[in-house]
Amino acid sequence: MTTHVTLPSPAGDPSPTDGLSTPVDGVDVVGALSPSRVGDFLACPLLYRFRTIDHLPEPPSPDAVRGTVVHKVLEDLFDLPAAERTPDQAASMLEPAWAALQEVEPDLTAMFGEGGGEITSWLASCRAALDQYFRLEDPRYLEPAERELYVETLTDTGLLLRGFVDRLDIAADGSIRVVDYKSGRAPGEGWEGKALFQLKFYGLVIWRMRGVIPTRLQLMYLGSGEILSYDPDEDDLLATERKVEAVWRAIATARDSGDWRPRRSALCAWCAHQAVCPEFGGTPPPLPEQVTPAD
Ligand code: SF4
Repeated sequence: MTTHVTLPSPAGDPSPTDGLSTPVDGVDVVGALSPSRVGDFLACPLLYRFRTIDHLPEPPSPDAVRGTVVHKVLEDLFDLPAAERTPDQAASMLEPAWAALQEVEPDLTAMFGEGGGEITSWLASCRAALDQYFRLEDPRYLEPAERELYVETLTDTGLLLRGFVDRLDIAADGSIRVVDYKSGRAPGEGWEGKALFQLKFYGLVIWRMRGVIPTRLQLMYLGSGEILSYDPDEDDLLATERKVEAVWRAIATARDSGDWRPRRSALCAWCAHQAVCPEFGGTPPPLPEQVTPAD
């Protein structure tokens, strides 16, 4: 029998995996995780709870929306004939991509103040990110095998790992490169491991789906014009799987005990939930009666 499983995502951070389902033959799916949700739990279990269980809304941020618009331009760029994939062409696609996003989410303009000055400088920052992209590679000489690829796999314990890969390049010899664009700056020393975790997560899922270990995992930081790359081996990906399973067990323990601890850190400065966080004098809302964490 084929069961179609659709798992919800936090209202405050709509997941692009919303509405997608997976056929799982006779397997009881215990839950789902994406790299972002693993990152949330590791950073702060209470943040994970607010996003995936309470589904608290979060206001959009200019940084996050810049990422969305720049990703869209880079995705669409590869629809053009190779010779037309130029910096000027990409720049001309920016405002239409922003306009299309506003049509779907008209409230986004509220991020910016009156008068339009903030939008102008924000669009300039999007343009700068695209310029950095062209300093890192020349898309006229690339033909990605996949863009914005939804990937998923089920572990032996019934945990669904899933997410979207920005780009997959496959060479003539079959070797795979996983590429992820970041519109921000490269992480400082000591934070690369965290950044690479997301890529290893995708490396693991692709290995499970295609039976081939990606040769290269690559993060392109368009804020600072840097590339962080890593060539994983089987041991790396098995270790990643163990880590994800351990995170899921910790989530299940928190769910069963109702103990979702806040973890104060520098990331709190960007957290939308300080008003309901005990670390900032707030009180979390009562837990919903049915607690089903999902990415
Ligand atoms: S403010 Fe900090 S400690 Fe509180 S939920 Fe957000 S990230 Fe966690």
